[in-house]
Amino acid sequence: MRLDGKVAIVTGASRGIGRAISRGLAAHGARVVVSSRTEVDTSHGSPHQKYASGTVFDTANAIEATGGTALPVRCDVSQAADLEHLVQATLERFGRLDIVVANAGVDCESPVVDLDLEILDRCLAVNVRGPLLLCKYALAPLIAQGTGGSIFCITSGAAQGYREGRVGYSMSKAALERMFLNLAEEVRPYNIAVNVLDPGRVDTWMNRNGDWPGTAHIPMAQPDVMIPAAVWLAQQTAETWTGQVVKRADFGQTWGC
Ligand code: NAP
Repeated sequence: MRLDGKVAIVTGASRGIGRAISRGLAAHGARVVVSSRTEVDTSHGSPHQKYASGTVFDTANAIEATGGTALPVRCDVSQAADLEHLVQATLERFGRLDIVVANAGVDCESPVVDLDLEILDRCLAVNVRGPLLLCKYALAPLIAQGTGGSIFCITSGAAQGYREGRVGYSMSKAALERMFLNLAEEVRPYNIAVNVLDPGRVDTWMNRNGDWPGTAHIPMAQPDVMIPAAVWLAQQTAETWTGQVVKRADFGQTWGC
């Protein structure tokens, strides 16, 4: 399960699942570009301080402190110029790119009748348009390298089923899944794997901040449980595993074994 010599970009890496995946990839030898918007932690005194805290520098420092290599880059995935810069900064520092993790995501929690247009537009920009543009900019160097690669995104059970009050979020994750499955076919000739990882219910700011009716019975896992599945996906190419939607809870049972 080594990723030595490989370079990864992870979006939404300041906290939660993205931070855990970044640390996991680095612990397995990858050099990791950790990106999100937050450079200064403003969570102090907030109701969810423990979960809302974290910056790209915190994650990068944690990686470096354990002997890994990380580059923190501020990037708002709703901004095309930020995504283009993220890929450029990666190539300038490390000279290559092998792994892309489209993890950044936001909720869109509201009955449709009350839907706030700004929240809907932000959700689609972050959860759908952002991953597509990230792939657009990342694919050029991945294809030019000619050594294959691995791209995966983080979906939700909401893509496949009803979640009360979260029609907008469900729509965004369903679109994300379809996008990645189609992209898998488009880049198969370049030996680039494209997969979709469903994390289950994970103990993060998104979960603690929201009010998700009908999910309380699902056990809440800590973010580090994501690491083995993420590392395994990061190792894949189109020759080994592509075009799949997989559940983290099934890792080692029905896939990744
Ligand atoms: P989280 O703790 O809220 O983390 C979300 C991350 O996304 C943060 O690092 C945040 O960083 C970043 N982000 C938000 N808006 C961004 C933007 N415009 N540009 C760049 N980065 C942005 O939530 P999480 O639970 O770890 O969620 C990670 C992914 O897992 C999401 O795609 C989410 O939909 C998915 N997911 C989570 C669960 C769960 O149970 N937690 C379940 C299913 C799916 P900044 O604020 O610093 O930008």
